[in-house]
Amino acid sequence: MSDFDFDLFTIGAGSGGVAASRRAGEYGAKVAICEELRVGGTCVMRGCVPKKLLVYGASFSEHFEDAKGFGWELGTPKLDWPRLIAAKEAELDRLEQIYLRLLQDSKVELISGRGALVDAHTVEVAGKRYTAKHILIATGGWPVRPTIPGIEHSITSNEALELDRLPARVVIVGGGYIGVEFAGIFNAAGAQVTMLLRGDNVLRGFDLEIRERLAEEMRARGITIETEVVLRSVARDGEDGPLKLLLDHGEMLETDALLYATGRAPNSAGLGLEAVGVACNPDGSVVVNERNRTSVANIYAVGDVTNRINLTPVAIAEGRALAETLFNDNPMTVDRRDVATAVFSRPPVATVGLTEQQAREQFSEIDVYCARFRPMKATISGRNERVLVKLVVDKRTDVVLGAHMVGDDAPELIQGLAVAIKCRATKRDFDATMGIHPTAGEEFVTMRFPRLDKVE
Ligand code: NDP
Repeated sequence: MSDFDFDLFTIGAGSGGVAASRRAGEYGAKVAICEELRVGGTCVMRGCVPKKLLVYGASFSEHFEDAKGFGWELGTPKLDWPRLIAAKEAELDRLEQIYLRLLQDSKVELISGRGALVDAHTVEVAGKRYTAKHILIATGGWPVRPTIPGIEHSITSNEALELDRLPARVVIVGGGYIGVEFAGIFNAAGAQVTMLLRGDNVLRGFDLEIRERLAEEMRARGITIETEVVLRSVARDGEDGPLKLLLDHGEMLETDALLYATGRAPNSAGLGLEAVGVACNPDGSVVVNERNRTSVANIYAVGDVTNRINLTPVAIAEGRALAETLFNDNPMTVDRRDVATAVFSRPPVATVGLTEQQAREQFSEIDVYCARFRPMKATISGRNERVLVKLVVDKRTDVVLGAHMVGDDAPELIQGLAVAIKCRATKRDFDATMGIHPTAGEEFVTMRFPRLDKVE
C-alpha cells in the first residue's frame, strides 16, 4: 500500500486529463482529478463540440438555398438563434453527465476546484491538501488577446459560443482555426462578417493552394476578408451602441460584436510549477520529454498545456500512453507524425501529412496532383462552388507525403486517407484503388497526371 492518498492526481478534467485518469483507474490505480470549471474541458465545453454543433445549426441556411434547385419550395427560413444555443447547451449538459459517469465507472474521484502544487507530491484544492505518487498537469489552454485600448469590449470563442442573440455584424480578428470556423458559423447564420488579418491570408501553415481556395469560397459566401490590417483600438458608442474599431491605416469600422481569435496560451500560471521546479518554456508551456515527463520526475503534463500539437485526439493519446506507461507496465510514446486535422469552416478543410511547401523543403523532387471540380450537388443546386483535392508525392519513392482537401465532407474523407498515409501508401497504391462513384473522394484515386506548374 502506497504512503500517498492517491497513485495519480490529475489537475484538469479535459480530454487529456480524463483520458489518463480513466485509463489509470481501469488498471486499478487510485486516482483523483480536480477541475475548476465543467468536466469535459475545452473540447467538450468550450471548443470542438459546441462549435461543431453551431456549424451544423447555422449551415442549414445553405441546405435551404440548395434545396430550391432540386425542386423544393420553401418559405423564408429563419434561424431562432437562442433556440440553437439552448439546444447546444442541453447537449453539453448531457455530455457532462456522461463524462461524470465515465469517471465514476473508472473509480476516479472528482474534486471540484482549482488545483495547485504545494510540493512534488502534494496538490491543494479549495484549501485541502492531497498527496499523490504521480501528478499530471492537464490544464489545457485559454484564449489570448493583445492589450489594445478597448479590448474589454471584445469576446473570445468562449463567449461567442454562448451569445444570447445573433449580432447583425461581426468582426473577427485572426484567421486561424477559430477565426475561420466562427466566420462560417456567423455568416451562415445570417450575420455580416468581416475578418481582419494581420497576414496575407487565412490559415497560415496550411498548404498555400488550400488557403487560397478556402478564402475564395469564404468570400463567395459573402465574408469580407481584409488582409494586412491591424486593429488599433476599440470604443463603444454609448452604453449599448455599436463598437467603433480604429484600424491602423486610419479607417473606422463599426460592428455589433468583435471576436478575437488570435491564438491560445497554455494554462500554466498559478499552478505552483516554478516553486516545485517544473520547467516551462518562455510561452508558459510545460517542458516535457517524449513520455510527457516534466523536469520533476513524478510530475507529467499532457495536451495543450505543453503547446505542441494542440488537438484533442493528441491529448487523449498522450493521456492514455502515460497511464499505460505508469500503471500497465507498457511504456508508450505517442507518434506525432502525420496527424490529420480538420477546420470546420464553410466549406471545411482537412489535411494530413506535408503541405506542398514543406515537401519541397524536405524532398529533392516531388509531384503534385490536384483536382478542382464542381461537386455534383452544386450542378442542380446552382451553387458556384469548387472542391479542391490535392496529393503531394515523393517522386523518388512514390510515397504519398500529404493529402489535402477543401470541400464538403473533407474531414470525413481525410480521416480515411490518414490511415493510408500512416501506412506509407504510394501513389501506385492510390491508383490501384477503385473509386466509389459518384463521390468527391474518388478524385483522390483517379488523378493521373502531376501538375506541371509549380506553385511557390
Ligand atoms: P491560431 O494560432 O490557429 O490562429 C491565430 C490567428 O490569429 C492567426 O491568423 C494569427 O495571424 C492571428 N494573430 C495572432 N496574434 C495576433 C495579433 N496580436 N493581432 C492580430 N492577429 C493575430 O489560433 P486560434 O485561436 O484560431 O486557435 C487556437 C488553437 O486551437 C489552434 O491552433 C488549434 O490548435 C486549436 N483549434 C483546433 C480546432 C480544430 O481542430 N478544428 C478548432 C479550433 C481550435 P498569423 O497567421 O499572422 O500568425
